[in-house]
Amino acid sequence: MTNSKDYCKENPVKITFLGGLGEIGKNMTVFEDRDSAFILDAGFKFPEAEMYGVEQVIPDMGYIETIKDKLKGIVLTHAHLDHIGAIKFVFEKIKLPLFGTKLTLGLASTVIPGRYKPYEEHEIKPGERFNVGTFQLEAVYVNHSIPDGVGFIIKRKGCGTIFHTGDFKIDATPIDGRAIDLQRIGMLGREGVLLLLSDSTNATRDGLTGSERIVGENLERLFRKIKGRIIITTFSTNIHRIQQIFDISWKLKKKVHVDGKSFVNIISVAKKLGYLNIPDGLTVDINELPLIPDENLVILTTGSQGEPLSGLTRLSSSTHQRLRILPGDTVIISAHPIPGNEEFVNRTVNNLFSLGADVIYREEEGIHVSGHASGDELKIMLQLTKPKFFVPVHGETRHLFAHKKIALDVGVEDKNVFILENGDSLI
Ligand SMILES: [Zn+2]
Ligand SMILES: [Zn+2]
Repeated sequence: MTNSKDYCKENPVKITFLGGLGEIGKNMTVFEDRDSAFILDAGFKFPEAEMYGVEQVIPDMGYIETIKDKLKGIVLTHAHLDHIGAIKFVFEKIKLPLFGTKLTLGLASTVIPGRYKPYEEHEIKPGERFNVGTFQLEAVYVNHSIPDGVGFIIKRKGCGTIFHTGDFKIDATPIDGRAIDLQRIGMLGREGVLLLLSDSTNATRDGLTGSERIVGENLERLFRKIKGRIIITTFSTNIHRIQQIFDISWKLKKKVHVDGKSFVNIISVAKKLGYLNIPDGLTVDINELPLIPDENLVILTTGSQGEPLSGLTRLSSSTHQRLRILPGDTVIISAHPIPGNEEFVNRTVNNLFSLGADVIYREEEGIHVSGHASGDELKIMLQLTKPKFFVPVHGETRHLFAHKKIALDVGVEDKNVFILENGDSLI
């Protein structure tokens, strides 16, 4: 009989990064041993400005083909498109069971075409353990710019523990009262972590990212001050932000009209699954708009990234089918442009000003916080987990190197930090 140490040595875990390194987007990582494998997240990336005519960029699926027989499932950290947008391309090769939290599975089903349905779904709850092939997993609740995000503890019998944070930040005053499970992460650190993979998106920013709650306070201050119609946009998956916009509007006796297909879809799924609370009588249909005084109307629309077909972009070019920008309107962009989208957003803002609207979009207004951990939060994660080995993930090359520096600062050994590229494997 071989003991577990020999087993781990003879049958090591191989981690292959198919996307998400040296870039922000198309996150997809394969964990495998001799007997089984699973995919952690399958996302796409929005094309960069110079890639004319390209709608989506997806990870290289060739590798999936080579390990098809071993694959046991796709495990999802959260429902952002850079983590779920390429599930359909995996399904094209092989239909696998999906493992995710309730909201993640609910939103994933909206981006998987009907021809792949039904497929096997396993709802997971933070703190519960489950098996995927030879791997034992446990989801750990994390804060992010979408509810129900998790990181994963990944174990095999008798072998070293791996922890993948997923996209995360530390929010001590989250809107729904659910804070990242730092207790579990600290306990894990005491049990021993062989390898940490951690979100690097904001590794170049010092300090703390800040709580979503602050955004609500700033939005309320603005909503009270603005006299005319308010047209507001944010990421359509930022359900806590949407909840705050609804809550403030309700408190100030305003009505909300929801414009744009992706908002309507996501809001209906989130409401059905219990992640959004919308009081009866708050939202109004487009036909009711003429009956509502300007100062009582909030229009929530898509287009925080200046996407060409979104509601706000159409409003800014006066090509929206049912709505027009009028002098006296105030537009609030409660988001930050994803790198590559700045030009689109600037064009939209310029056009809105030209039409006579006031536009509130600058970071200094406090109308947006990121969903990713900044330097101090990354230090806390490293301190709590005390990993032997460290791989910074989810970032452009400069973010990965900044995260490496942070890891060295808190005592991870230089030779144990690996900066990898897409296509690389770690054994
Ligand atoms: Zn995310
Ligand atoms: Zn992400």
